[in-house]
Amino acid sequence: MKNNKLKERLENGPMICAEGFLFEIERRGYMASGEFVPMVSLDNPEVLENLHREFQHAGSDIVEAFTYNGHREKMRVIGKEELLEPLNRAALKIAKKVALDTPKNSKPNLMAGNISNSNIWKYNDKQSQKEVEGMFSEMIGWAIEEGADMLIGETFYYAEEAFKALEVMKKTGLPTVLTISPMGENKMKDGKSVVDTCKELEQLGADVVGLNCFRGPPTMLPFLKEIRAAVKCHVGALPIPYRTSEDYPTFFNLPDRSNCECPSPHGRTFPTALDPHFCNRYEIGKFAKEAYDLGINYLGVCCGANPMLIREVAESIGLKVPASKYRENMKNHFMYGKNKRIPKHMTEYGDKA
Ligand SMILES: [Zn+2]
Repeated sequence: MKNNKLKERLENGPMICAEGFLFEIERRGYMASGEFVPMVSLDNPEVLENLHREFQHAGSDIVEAFTYNGHREKMRVIGKEELLEPLNRAALKIAKKVALDTPKNSKPNLMAGNISNSNIWKYNDKQSQKEVEGMFSEMIGWAIEEGADMLIGETFYYAEEAFKALEVMKKTGLPTVLTISPMGENKMKDGKSVVDTCKELEQLGADVVGLNCFRGPPTMLPFLKEIRAAVKCHVGALPIPYRTSEDYPTFFNLPDRSNCECPSPHGRTFPTALDPHFCNRYEIGKFAKEAYDLGINYLGVCCGANPMLIREVAESIGLKVPASKYRENMKNHFMYGKNKRIPKHMTEYGDKA
């Protein structure tokens, strides 16, 4: 067996993977919300490269090629199927370029190819399942050709679609991460329990199993505890940074917190009006530390992530990353600082500010 760089690193400590490119690229103005097709690798490659670099600066060890939703079905929805391969190759090349250019004093980054939920997978429908297998295979093929060091399959809400993704990924011999994303029913859409799905993924040979997306810290952590206890392989934890709850386990149906006077025109907070639910950095740090203390070594943040939160994940588990140079320093604040240069009349004014 080829040496498994991912597993080796995870045996020796934590690894961080920044996800959530969809939301962050949209926030920056380079993608249509709702439609969510990652045309950015072709339309504005410098924007995508820069975001990868910012995540890397903040401590991400893995540069995940932004091919999420860049699959044949989505390209058909927007009538640009002919751009499927160019989009994938461009995203992979950008990720590879950044991974090879790891900042000094950081461990070499790994470039990850990526496949995800197809949205056409249908329970007990051989035709749709065959089509999905074809979509996975072509994307994994391009990832291999562009030099992926590992593969990530993510955001699957059908257990069997996740198994199929892993099967396609395993054929390459590269290290594999497979994270699933149960919806609000708290089980997979084809009826399997979350823990049983992870156990089966381990059996099928995934190096890392776990959860990403849809769930914020409060509704992801309980599942992670069960998964950690049920499998021997490494576990991945990549929540969304939004305050989900028992009543609203995922971000899809979260109502606004305080009768907003300007609700979104499409009638829900997801995906454009979730801001009042955003977790602060300390909540994300606390989550990461708790997950790490459970024995979870593969950590990150999904939709809603930004470099500030990735740095928080890193620092919460004792890592120092390039962006640590600019970590919080309230000592020098003009009203709340303890620096003796701050005049007394200003520190006294702080409570009235
Ligand atoms: Zn996500």
